[in-house]
Amino acid sequence: MKRCPVCRARFSGKPVCRRCKSDLFSLIQLEEQVKKSLHRAVYALAAGNIDTACNFCGYAESIKKTSFGKALSGFLASRQDAHRAAKIVKLQ
Ligand SMILES: [Zn+2]
Repeated sequence: MKRCPVCRARFSGKPVCRRCKSDLFSLIQLEEQVKKSLHRAVYALAAGNIDTACNFCGYAESIKKTSFGKALSGFLASRQDAHRAAKIVKLQ
């Protein structure tokens, strides 16, 4: 969050807007959840758990769209397709 969603004042990093005194604590927590979910998606990807990584990334993207989340989501979708294609080839 770069600006207060109520008055557009520059975000100071504090849970109360310095200008309009809006409570921003819940929004700060949501942004932390997005960061944690994206980190968990990367760790799951590194461990080879594509489906788990997709779930964490999808959750993060459902809360807040970010350029990193979009890029990771696209990469994970391509890896899921490749993983499914490899399974089909093995079955034949
Ligand atoms: Zn404000």
